[in-house]
Amino acid sequence: MKFAYSMPTRVVAGEGCLVESAAALKEMGKKALIVTGRHSARANGSLDDALRALALNGQGYVLFDKVMSNPTVQCAFEGAAAMREGKCDFVLAIGGGSPMDAGKAMALLAARDEAVDPAAIFSTAYTAAYPVVAVPTTAGTGSEVTQYSILTNDAAETKTSIANPLIFPRLAYLDPRYMSGLSQTVTVNTAIDALSHAVEGMLSVRASAISDGMARQSIEMLAGCFGPMREGTLSVQNRADLLCASTLAGMVIANTGTTAVHAMGYSLTYYKNIDHGRANGLLLPEFLAFTAKHAAGRVQNILACMGLADVADFAALLGGLLGKRETLTPEELSHYAEKASKAGNIGNCLVRPEKDDLLAVLKAALG
Ligand code: NAP
Ligand code: FE
Repeated sequence: MKFAYSMPTRVVAGEGCLVESAAALKEMGKKALIVTGRHSARANGSLDDALRALALNGQGYVLFDKVMSNPTVQCAFEGAAAMREGKCDFVLAIGGGSPMDAGKAMALLAARDEAVDPAAIFSTAYTAAYPVVAVPTTAGTGSEVTQYSILTNDAAETKTSIANPLIFPRLAYLDPRYMSGLSQTVTVNTAIDALSHAVEGMLSVRASAISDGMARQSIEMLAGCFGPMREGTLSVQNRADLLCASTLAGMVIANTGTTAVHAMGYSLTYYKNIDHGRANGLLLPEFLAFTAKHAAGRVQNILACMGLADVADFAALLGGLLGKRETLTPEELSHYAEKASKAGNIGNCLVRPEKDDLLAVLKAALG
């Protein structure tokens, strides 16, 4: 037995928690940089709650509401400039993974005395960050409890992660009310991202009894929601379960990292504009089938958490949620396998795939 486990984020959960537990925000500083997307935070009530919480504490704010999906390096620099200009003390990131990840990068960039060369954003050795508070409004990425900021890396034609313990959010508020109006597509894609995190965590060489416990709980909660999700009949309790499962799965990957599924998925997002969670979901069944050839017991454990007999049932479940699949050319498949084979997270795989194995997974999923 040899493992490390850490989870420095304080989590406050429940309907109305942001305003009710506003006092917890107070110690973050006098002025927030609110980081969010263009529309949804205004519509789902999260931005109003954040403004009320800040007002209760007498805290000021600057609003940066320009984060796009799959945020760019440029967006992170723009937000960091706004943070410095506004003399903000902390980041309050509200939204899906995109605003939360962008906010974390801003917290690092703004805290540096020396300017960072945009080309070196992923390789700079950061030594400080402003505190980050996260309010997820999708249930999928778990970014509210991870040390990862994933940005579009045009130089390398992929998505790249800044992984740094400094950007673990200090505080996360989980309020499932914000997700009640989430579209069917975003609900499905983000839930599958969470499932992918929990499953990949169980297929990581860094898995431990602690991460497995959280992963199993997450997978069970997600499995209980897939039926109503497909029917479009998610209850308030289902929404709460999805959010909790997503945060648990984030705690898992904060400790285990992700694996080949995420490594391959980044090319689908970068080149084909396929949503992050969907990209993982398209690949996950075939990767599970590959892993089952060498670690059958581990895969059976995962399937048992979902009440499924075999990988074919798992594939059918995800297929029903994802609908018609994209088809890629042989050249695209080879290119993506080649890129994924060089990604750092391949090293996390319990059963480590070679380039040909990755190609076989990609072909079976999207050929
Ligand atoms: P997202 O890109 O943050 O948001 C997707 C869409 O959903 C946006 O159009 C957004 O609108 C909308 N939206 C968000 N909350 C909503 C709500 N409550 N109601 C209605 N619409 C809402 O998607 P995401 O899947 O959550 O995040 C994906 C990103 O997270 C990727 O960049 C991925 O690489 C990253 N990720 C990070 C980690 C990590 O550990 N850091 C893990 C996995 C994935 P607005 O733009 O108007 O807000
Ligand atoms: Fe993910």
